[in-house]
Amino acid sequence: MTWETVIGLEIHARLLTRGKIFSPSLSAFCGSPNVNISEVDLGLPGALPVLNRAAVECAARLGLALGGRVNLESEFARKNYFYPDLPKGYQISQYEHPIVSGGEMRIVLDGAEKRVEKRVGVTRAHLEEDAGKLVHEDWDAMSGVDLNRAGSPLLEIVSEPDMRSAAEASAYAREMRRLARWLGVCDGEMQEGSFRVDANISVRRPGEDFGVRCEIKNLNSFRFLEQAIEYEAARQIRVKEEGGEVLQETRLFDSAKGETRTMRGKEDAHDYRYFPDPDLPVLRLSAEWVEEIRRGLPELPRARSARFVSEHGLGEAEAELLTSERALSDFYEAAARKLGSGGAKACANWVVGDLAALLNKDGVGIEDSRISADGLAGLLGRVESGEISGKTAKEVLEKMWRSGEDSGAIIAREGLGQISDESELERLAREIVERNAKQAADYRGGKERLFGFFIGQMMAATKGRANPKTANEIMRRVLGGN
Ligand code: ADP
Ligand code: MG
Repeated sequence: MTWETVIGLEIHARLLTRGKIFSPSLSAFCGSPNVNISEVDLGLPGALPVLNRAAVECAARLGLALGGRVNLESEFARKNYFYPDLPKGYQISQYEHPIVSGGEMRIVLDGAEKRVEKRVGVTRAHLEEDAGKLVHEDWDAMSGVDLNRAGSPLLEIVSEPDMRSAAEASAYAREMRRLARWLGVCDGEMQEGSFRVDANISVRRPGEDFGVRCEIKNLNSFRFLEQAIEYEAARQIRVKEEGGEVLQETRLFDSAKGETRTMRGKEDAHDYRYFPDPDLPVLRLSAEWVEEIRRGLPELPRARSARFVSEHGLGEAEAELLTSERALSDFYEAAARKLGSGGAKACANWVVGDLAALLNKDGVGIEDSRISADGLAGLLGRVESGEISGKTAKEVLEKMWRSGEDSGAIIAREGLGQISDESELERLAREIVERNAKQAADYRGGKERLFGFFIGQMMAATKGRANPKTANEIMRRVLGGN
């Protein structure tokens, strides 16, 4: 009998606001400790939290993009626990009345033959403040508390237990990250902790009720997420097959060893003594405001990816690559629009191929590309019209990148244009045939394969700039005695 793995994810996305969720301190990631802090973040007595409107807007945008309901009334609650990086002794979060209820995410998986789509339900998304951080430097037996992160706005997005494999969980988390970045609500920097995943995992025999779950905290890469799930599912299966019971607990993933370890027994909600925070009024939103946010949503990445396949004729993998980031897909689309429908595929290849290589080499994002969408379209238009070959275009692209010049200027200065002038090519062909009279005679006598030799001579004489199609036609004509 086989086992089925059941997974639900809780994702913490740090919202891209300037200030913190309840204080005006900067919420930016910062290298030096305790720089971006105020009375509120320190939890000083009498300091009162004031909700940051921008955080609410981010939450509403993501909630609506997930097809969820933005609740016109939601409530902040105190989640009480002690930890040295939490000066107030409680975290302000939302509990019974979150800002977003319901929603879903469509994920695409590589099936045995084709890609399959799957729906993962979103239970809720709620706003909360982040805690600070303990820093364990190599001071003798001492740890420091850094409160820069305390009070940064988080949106916790809770999924239904709808995933059944590490690959599905990873696809869901990736899709969520793409969406959050696309909407500009989170930068998705996993190394900096701006996008963290907790994985809830249980195993059961098919048809059984859900089993007891373990929660693995703070996975900060997709690879670790997958490894942790694989390890944990195998561990639980082993426990059950040996007749044991899985205990509900919170576990840590040790990425060096590739295993999960007990961190603490899992608290139940009542352990936190949640109650509505008396310092904050009920959050009331107007239906008009929510509608305005909905109308302001851009075309979403999954829809755009599908449109690149259906309208532009791109492959699915290409379309996914191009929609990994909104700026990249905007760039591609701006260039492709200039080229017209016939040029879309080539344009996509150049963007994910040669241009991406240049961006990578210099470590810059598409927003800082030294070649504009117009510039790329101009270059590719010259390939389309036969003015330069694809091979020459690669050289020109590099030069454009280095000098910031327009393709036309580079081609003119360096004489890189393809020779399509028929009289010029015909003069050359006659010269070559005359100079190689013996080969010409052999060709005419039936040695067909000598044709390649003549084309080679032509390319050598023009340093590869002869338009191949025209050169072929003319050489055939001249060799044929015309
Ligand atoms: P808590 O508030 O204690 O974290 P929730 O009920 O909010 O508990 O669930 C948290 C996450 O655990 C959700 O993503 C949910 O889908 C997932 N989950 C719940 N039950 C199971 C289960 N039996 N197996 C795997 N995941 C589960
Ligand atoms: Mg939880």
